[in-house]
Amino acid sequence: MDLPIYMDGHATTRVDPRVIEAMLPFFGEYYGNAASRHHRFGWTVRDAVADARAEVAALVGAPARDLVFTSGATESNNLAVKGVAEAARNRGNHIVTARTEHRAILDPCARLEQQGMRVSYLSVGNDGVLDPAALEAAITPTTVLVTVMMANNEIGVLQPIAALARLARARGVLLHTDAAQAAGKVPIDVEADGIDLLSLTAHKLYGPKGVGALFIRHGVAVAPLVDGGGHEGGLRSGTLNVPAIVGFGRAAAICADEMPGEAARLSRLRDRLWDGIRRSLRGVTVNGSMRARLPHNLNISVDGLHGEQLLMGLDDVAVSSGAACTSASREPSHVLRALGLGDTRARASIRFGLGRFNTEAEVDYVIEKLCSLVTRLRAPTPVFDLAEDDRNLPPKWRVY
Ligand SMILES: *Cc1c(COP(=O)(O)O)cnc(C)c1O
Repeated sequence: MDLPIYMDGHATTRVDPRVIEAMLPFFGEYYGNAASRHHRFGWTVRDAVADARAEVAALVGAPARDLVFTSGATESNNLAVKGVAEAARNRGNHIVTARTEHRAILDPCARLEQQGMRVSYLSVGNDGVLDPAALEAAITPTTVLVTVMMANNEIGVLQPIAALARLARARGVLLHTDAAQAAGKVPIDVEADGIDLLSLTAHKLYGPKGVGALFIRHGVAVAPLVDGGGHEGGLRSGTLNVPAIVGFGRAAAICADEMPGEAARLSRLRDRLWDGIRRSLRGVTVNGSMRARLPHNLNISVDGLHGEQLLMGLDDVAVSSGAACTSASREPSHVLRALGLGDTRARASIRFGLGRFNTEAEVDYVIEKLCSLVTRLRAPTPVFDLAEDDRNLPPKWRVY
């Protein structure tokens, strides 16, 4: 077993060696511009991009022509939210979203609010799941877009997207979902689920960083964020990042192939991790629904301890507390706060994101390491630190 162990698969995933292999020729041999229409250099990469587009589209049940390549889910989310808001300006000025969304949704919404849009931020239950009735109540005649993530990046909770989409469609409102964490991990079908726009990113599904896609249902009007040469049907100008797109295609195809077996394997590993932890430790709770959840996510709070202490102590295990993108800030996670957790429990959380390259032996190592760390950190403070009253109590009676 190699150390350190990587269990931070919600922050990013290792690029699968098969993906790297697929990308390499497009850095060297095949360097043409996919928009060059008059020579073989262009045709070769144009065909490779077309294949990749079909592979990514197939992962979510979309027609290839309805997919726009972007730089990642942040850009896809911005394009969906701002692009729909602008294109629908004469139909309405209201967006509905949820309090547990990624910053790449919340921040574009905040900017639109500064420009006069109205945004409703729905609360979730303390299991992290949005009640469709809350959405139904929030939609007004001026609502133009509902944007709710498919799977949460901190707690892995899955939202009932098909039910939300049905409600939105019945009221003539578009539904966008950020599927950065769900894609490649759980089945997605934009047709069956009634999704109008869907964001993807390659680096959460064993592909390269800096490439993503937005599915836009045929006929849905979106204003571009980036104007220029008219690439991607005018919705996202700029020369295509061919090696990354090819890698994205290969990564999507591998996920589609391996999903059923891999999801079952990861949920067994995740359950083994959770069982191992709760067997040896008291005062540990799971954050978010255990039923409506990605198979590879575990997010727990450890009573009496701070997430940072745990991360420091787990020195050869890569996990995180809260989201990678906001971990620079010391604020407790807005997601855990939305579940109703107090500051203390929200700060006591750690997130495990298991992945394709994790093994049972690694899980067992992490259980052992975490349990001995927590036991050590919770051990009674040295006598000279204790209040007078506590001083003469046997250690096991002390409160920590
Ligand atoms: C990672 C992530 C993003 C951002 O994706 P990038 O490709 O890094 O821009 C957006 N939403 C969710 C839910 C994510 O997990």
